[in-house]
Amino acid sequence: MKFNEVLENVTTYEAGKPIELVVREYGVNPKDVIKLASNENPYGTSSKVTAKIQELAKNMFVYPDDSMYELKEALGKKFDVDSSNVIIGSGSDQIIEFCVHAKCEKDSKLLMAKTTFAMYEIYGKQTGAKIIKTESHTHDLAQFLALYKEHGADVIFLCLPNNPLGEAVDTKDVYEFLEQIDSETLVVVDGAYQEYAAYKDENKRIVPKDLITKFSNCIYLGTFSKAYALGGMRVGYGIAQPEIIKTLYKLRAPFNITTLTLAAAIEALKDEEFVTACIAKNFEEMTRYEEYAKSRGFEYIPSYTNFITIKMGDKFVSKEVAQKLLEVGIIVRDLTGYGQNAIRITIGTNEQNTKVFSVLDEVLEKLK
Ligand SMILES: *Cc1c(COP(=O)(O)O)cnc(C)c1O
Repeated sequence: MKFNEVLENVTTYEAGKPIELVVREYGVNPKDVIKLASNENPYGTSSKVTAKIQELAKNMFVYPDDSMYELKEALGKKFDVDSSNVIIGSGSDQIIEFCVHAKCEKDSKLLMAKTTFAMYEIYGKQTGAKIIKTESHTHDLAQFLALYKEHGADVIFLCLPNNPLGEAVDTKDVYEFLEQIDSETLVVVDGAYQEYAAYKDENKRIVPKDLITKFSNCIYLGTFSKAYALGGMRVGYGIAQPEIIKTLYKLRAPFNITTLTLAAAIEALKDEEFVTACIAKNFEEMTRYEEYAKSRGFEYIPSYTNFITIKMGDKFVSKEVAQKLLEVGIIVRDLTGYGQNAIRITIGTNEQNTKVFSVLDEVLEKLK
């Protein structure tokens, strides 16, 4: 069958492996599986959210509030913006999709870092757009600017901090970069891990209101899937000037966010204490990974997120290390597909991390 020809170049996103797969294929007891491959909050769903979902479960015959009034108001309040500045998506992924489809057609140009969130490229290629990447794996704004001057761009993606490598750029450098970008170029600032970056280093904090006030061609994206512990609910948001928001809404299917999802997000926003406590523990545990890497002679990328990328050097092959860990029930992300001999590990709970260190030692010993 003939399909849209641009789809020939589109690869499908490879998600972190699910717990069910490890149970099925390697016979690991589900209780013993440690899933540290998708940057979920390992401390689980806040009990206030769970209670709310249970309370609403009986109302599932009614369509959701398609205006998403309450969640938009809550986000507007949190970020000191008007609800006309807010769009809700089924994950911030969906808003990335809207951004690309709103701006791109065949031969449009998308500019991004060499190693960054895979969906930017996938959505871009769905439109037949050309993908332009920096030579540097991590975000190098001088390279972004040089490429922009050479080729122009319809959309620029800045992942701050970056997934899957974990680095972040100083906000003042981001702003200096944005000064040089034409107002016709849509700049997507993906803040999926901003809560973590802002906690670790104020210089990396991006305030959505400042961003969109200074630069009306920018959209800030946030998600409830990481620090807010709602990966299973699929909800994210975009903050931009109303002109952008209104256009993105044209691409939205009705009722794209479920009643339970809306309620869970609203509840999660009320429990900031839980989120802050999780972030604090994240960085405490992160230092254990840094020490582990150092003591075993591995390099790592200093991370502003809830994961850490550890380079396997010339002694080990990341793909083999990830596979061996998988076979004993520890799911991490191999970055071979991103051109890196490295593994990305989501920072787990204290207990999970202790297990990771001991199992990793055993695996490395065997692979030596
Ligand atoms: C996780 C993630 C997202 C969005 O996730 P959703 O679950 O779709 O909200 C967006 N960007 C980056 C860089 C991410 O890591």
